[in-house]
Amino acid sequence: MAQKELEKHFKELLVNYKVSRGNAGIDILKNTWKFAKLAHIGQKRLTGDPYASHSLAVAAILFSWKLDLPSIVAGFLHDTIEDGGAASKDIIGEFGEEVNRLVEGVTKVSNVRLRGSQDEEFIENLRKMFLAMAKDLRVVLIKLADRLHNMQTLYALPKDKQLRIARETLEVFAPLAERLGMGEVKAELDDLSFPYVYPEAYKKVKKLSIFHYKKAEEHIKKMKRNLLSKLATNGIEAKIDGRKKHLYSLWTKLERPEIRWEFGKVHDIVALRILVKTIPLCYSALGIVHNFYKPVPTIGVSDFIAQPKPNGYRSIHTKVFGPRGRIVEVQIRTFKMHEESEYGIASHWAYSEAKTRGKDDYFLEKVGVKASDDKLSWIKQLAEWQNEISDSKEFFRAIKFDALSSRNFVFSPNGDVYDLPAGATPVDYAYAVHTQLGSYIKGAKVDGKVVPLNYKLKSGQVVEIIKSKNPHPPRSDWLNFVVTNVARREIEKYLRKN
Ligand code: MN
Repeated sequence: MAQKELEKHFKELLVNYKVSRGNAGIDILKNTWKFAKLAHIGQKRLTGDPYASHSLAVAAILFSWKLDLPSIVAGFLHDTIEDGGAASKDIIGEFGEEVNRLVEGVTKVSNVRLRGSQDEEFIENLRKMFLAMAKDLRVVLIKLADRLHNMQTLYALPKDKQLRIARETLEVFAPLAERLGMGEVKAELDDLSFPYVYPEAYKKVKKLSIFHYKKAEEHIKKMKRNLLSKLATNGIEAKIDGRKKHLYSLWTKLERPEIRWEFGKVHDIVALRILVKTIPLCYSALGIVHNFYKPVPTIGVSDFIAQPKPNGYRSIHTKVFGPRGRIVEVQIRTFKMHEESEYGIASHWAYSEAKTRGKDDYFLEKVGVKASDDKLSWIKQLAEWQNEISDSKEFFRAIKFDALSSRNFVFSPNGDVYDLPAGATPVDYAYAVHTQLGSYIKGAKVDGKVVPLNYKLKSGQVVEIIKSKNPHPPRSDWLNFVVTNVARREIEKYLRKN
């Protein structure tokens, strides 16, 4: 991509930004673009493009997810410290503390390098993600946008890197996007990784699916026409499209023992998606669908509006007998639910901001006033997500680390990760760090607050041992609460000797 073309892309982003959000922020974006180009001057991506093309692409993705201006700015700048020539103080000076915190957060999350086994790498990544997440979820969204663009340009990388990055995307980032309710992003990450991780399966599914997608689409066309007219007769305004199941998810379904590559058994290879304005209309539409196409017994209706999925997904799914008895899945939801299912948490955020700030939000930004309400809604939302994550066994299950859900991953103040069993205390932590440290325990802090030594640590916490000046013997009552073998052994050893 030549510089000229790059500038054209930047102008497009500016125009789109202006159309949807007004003039405030335009100068900041221009300034950011200049800064990013300067910080990456002379650097190229392996695709041969100037490095700044990546900065721009990431920022554009964040804009399309409707993230706020500081996130878009941080998207432009996310590699300027790590890979470019910028320093934190430059970013603070030009763009302020908030943007700098986001950039540093992304840098930290990206700093993870492969070491040890493959699982170790994934887990390490996850831990870092959690940590960053606890601070600001926008960091995670910037990282996802970064990964999405890196996947789109993965072809330019050497083979071994392609495999490592694609596998990590498939096993960590795509499930993370799903967990955040970003269905479209998950699908895109899956399908970008698929050919690198499972090349043979990819070729096979791709080749075989062409015919079946086409057949299913033709079939659905008739139903679509029919339903549109029935809905209209009943006074329901609706939009109907066919949703193609994405390739990777089609493959995992085909591999299921009850399917065994029988395409006819994949009822949602192309699903009919009905979008209406309100929740009551969803149920009216369901009635109309069932009036013409009978629901399939036992596998019929799933009502994710009454009972949303854990990631917030809402929709009614029904499997019906279509023309010629072919089973077809019909999904019914509101326009708002549809947007939420594409952008997930980002869309929730955009909505709550729009709601609290009203139409004058960009005016407020322009005059430098930030309604305190939107900060509030952001914090509230973050708290909700953290609650969900802290007890989310199902999250670990979703990312296939079953065995890990009973482990505690805690951090040292430097960010080193310690893997402790459930019920572990600061004393266990101290002995895990170094057996010598056990002789210097004076107290402990968790997330900056002093806690008793029998405190039960939880995943994601930062633990700090308050050290005594001089070594002293461990106390026998510690044996009442330590759970690790190392701690028990060391304490007992000392008590025996004395
Ligand atoms: Mn990057």
